[in-house]
Amino acid sequence: MERTLIDETPRLVGQVVKLEGWVNIRRDHGKLIFIDLRDRSGKIQMVIIPDKEEAYRAAKEIRSEYIIEVEGLVKARPGGAKNEKIPTGGVEIEVEKLSVISKPEVELPVDISAEELNLNLDTLLDNRTLTLRNEKVKAIFKIYAEMVGAYARIMKQSGFMEIKTPKIVNAATEGGANFFKIKYFEKEAYLAQSPQFYKQAGVAIFERVFEVGSVFRAEPHYTTRHVNEYIGMDAEMGFIESSEDVMAELEKVIAYVMEEISQNCQAELEAYGAQILPVEKIPRMKLTEALDILDKEYGKKMEEVDIDAEGERLICEWVKKNHNSDFVFLTHYPTSIRPFYSMPSADPQYTDTFDLLFRGLEISTGGQRIYDYNQLVASIKKHNLNPEDFAHYLDIFKYGIPPHGGWGLGSERIVQKILGLGSIKEAILFPRDVKRLTP
Ligand code: ATP
Ligand code: MG
Repeated sequence: MERTLIDETPRLVGQVVKLEGWVNIRRDHGKLIFIDLRDRSGKIQMVIIPDKEEAYRAAKEIRSEYIIEVEGLVKARPGGAKNEKIPTGGVEIEVEKLSVISKPEVELPVDISAEELNLNLDTLLDNRTLTLRNEKVKAIFKIYAEMVGAYARIMKQSGFMEIKTPKIVNAATEGGANFFKIKYFEKEAYLAQSPQFYKQAGVAIFERVFEVGSVFRAEPHYTTRHVNEYIGMDAEMGFIESSEDVMAELEKVIAYVMEEISQNCQAELEAYGAQILPVEKIPRMKLTEALDILDKEYGKKMEEVDIDAEGERLICEWVKKNHNSDFVFLTHYPTSIRPFYSMPSADPQYTDTFDLLFRGLEISTGGQRIYDYNQLVASIKKHNLNPEDFAHYLDIFKYGIPPHGGWGLGSERIVQKILGLGSIKEAILFPRDVKRLTP
């Protein structure tokens, strides 16, 4: 008999089907045994009655997380017995045959059948291979998958070509100390902390490129927003006039991705009580204006022209209150805190760059890049770096490149903020932080 997926059962009432999946939980009610079975498509209640002797005997041995195969009759559940919470709540399976395919060899360290796991972060992550099986935890990754899928779709629709760039590199991209050094045969190499240089090379070849790929940061952070390996959703586009063009494109991408998630992940969002507002025009504000608001409205003074995590949170609160937007672009960051390739704005103290904040957190940095060879060499020197270390990068500009810009967008932070997760690590299957290299 061919396998039926659980989500197909509601239209197969009266038929005998074969299901395969994981036992969420077994419940005994008097003489009846109930088993909630799940597969990749959904979850369903099954009942085993004593008359089906062999199946009944087998069912008595079943525990959570057993992987089983059953054959049974799809029956409509009477009105009062329906479970409105799941799409298959109107039917159940009356089991005729049941056999075990695979089962845990040990007592499970955590009970994952509950709706809410209520585990502390370390326990949740230490037992990741198991806790990821929990329905509510899985919902995070359905949303994640929807997000990266939607990102690729809208980028391609907008004429961006998907590229993959090397993650083993021979020099520190932007200078700086946040590189993981690795042994590379006789040499030393580094793990890429940004696809920046390669996506700019991509512009000179393909005009518009995007990448979804691993980014490595050797930052000893203990925060809820940093990990040491994350997935960046990057883009770079040629023939722009200013970072306004980049922001307009990113705004379109954000609107589409949010819309797709709210359309296609309703149940998953609901599990977290999460709501997504339609994204229209994202407010833009100069960094200096934001600092002014922080000073005047919240009595928060920054020593330099820069914004910290608390400032980002407060400015988002203000934007939400005054513009009813979950997003805000902060623009015109000072030259001193931006990388050497950032295009200066009309007032050269500032750059034509931006950060995009979402519900209190930076999710993206972008802007226009310097595209003139001599200007770039001068900027490298001004940042106390040596142009010789950037010889291959500088080749791109020696050969000519259109005015261009782009962004780096952190994928996990978006999901973290959509669902209101306490830590970014909850939005990563197997996160890597300062202390965590396993599982
Ligand atoms: P932050 O100031 O929060 O440390 P950043 O400015 O150093 O971030 P960028 O270099 O601008 O980060 O990287 C682009 C985007 O990549 C960020 O806006 C963020 O969404 C994501 N990102 C950066 N670093 C991390 C990290 N350590 N863990 C997870 N995501 C990150
Ligand atoms: Mg940034």
